[in-house]
Amino acid sequence: MSNLSAYLHVPFCRRKCNYCDFFSAPPAPEAVSSYVNALCSQIRASSCRGEALRTVYVGGGTPSLLSEDDFTALVAALLDTFDLTSCVEFTVECNPESVTESWAKRLYSLGVNRISMGVQTFSDAALRRLGRLHTAAEAEKAFRILRDAGFSNISMDLMAALPEQDLSALESDLDRMISLSPEHISVYLLKIEPNTPFGLTGVTEQDEETQRKMYLLTHQKLTKAGYEHYEISNFAKQGRRAVHNCVYWTGGEYLAFGPGASGFRDGVRYRIPENTAEFCRLNGLVSPFVEERVDAYAQKAEAIFLGLRMSDGIPLAWIDCKKMPFLQRLCEEGLGVLADQRFSLTAEGFLVSDGIVSALMPDK
Ligand code: SF4
Repeated sequence: MSNLSAYLHVPFCRRKCNYCDFFSAPPAPEAVSSYVNALCSQIRASSCRGEALRTVYVGGGTPSLLSEDDFTALVAALLDTFDLTSCVEFTVECNPESVTESWAKRLYSLGVNRISMGVQTFSDAALRRLGRLHTAAEAEKAFRILRDAGFSNISMDLMAALPEQDLSALESDLDRMISLSPEHISVYLLKIEPNTPFGLTGVTEQDEETQRKMYLLTHQKLTKAGYEHYEISNFAKQGRRAVHNCVYWTGGEYLAFGPGASGFRDGVRYRIPENTAEFCRLNGLVSPFVEERVDAYAQKAEAIFLGLRMSDGIPLAWIDCKKMPFLQRLCEEGLGVLADQRFSLTAEGFLVSDGIVSALMPDK
């Protein structure tokens, strides 16, 4: 079976959200179609032509700004270039305000089998403050449209620790999310990045203790509702873990298409330069730059760092036996679990994973 994946980036959003520092910007007129042409030509020029893809992920930005015909062209380029017969997961990210019946039906008919939708909160006041373009009712409507179009694997993003959000507001967001019953839920604590409207206007993050309480409330409510907390920020119904994202967390290989996209192949981590105008001018035929050549040490360190993000944890054999007393102490403190020759973090452990991971890094 193929172990190769592909990530396609769409660097457009109708408007920047107040907390966002992703690589995306409002598109100039005609920019989207010229971008899709360039993206298709980059895909067709891939040196991995003929290889089988196990997962495809179209992220952004806002991929749902691409029209039905844009997606038809994109899928045609993928089919011309790669073998998709064993592709188990084809995800497209969307924002609620751009989901229409005909868009959803076309994507489903093209073979897209998973949608990841940015909901963030069901409070209209908080959505406005975040600079989102949709309302809670529109998010619920978009979810129904996607279900009616045939999507049986939908992921929804929620944000916690929003400005002025308290525990009961988060609880009500989680209840509304659970009542929709998506197959997968991602929950991110709001981080304020300095070069965003929030950062520039002095909006601050909630204090550490509130963030901790919100994280644990999220864990308790979603696990009680039948979701497995399988990664620091991700929850899934049985058998519905995000296959593509698990490729990232388990050191798998993936190709990158579109400016700002990162790839990993043959031990090299690379990135497509973040310049959309240049990407279009060169019709997608840009040279990626090497971010890192992953040597044996980096591979080992990364496997520990990424493995501890997941509830599966890591084999004990990866950890220097001198560190066993440290692991045992973490278990006594409720931060870790030792079982079946593996070590993993609990929800409390996920909250302090940075410190634990650095203590477990292998010696050079
Ligand atoms: S829709 Fe997503 S990518 Fe676009 S500005 Fe908002 S948070 Fe950023």
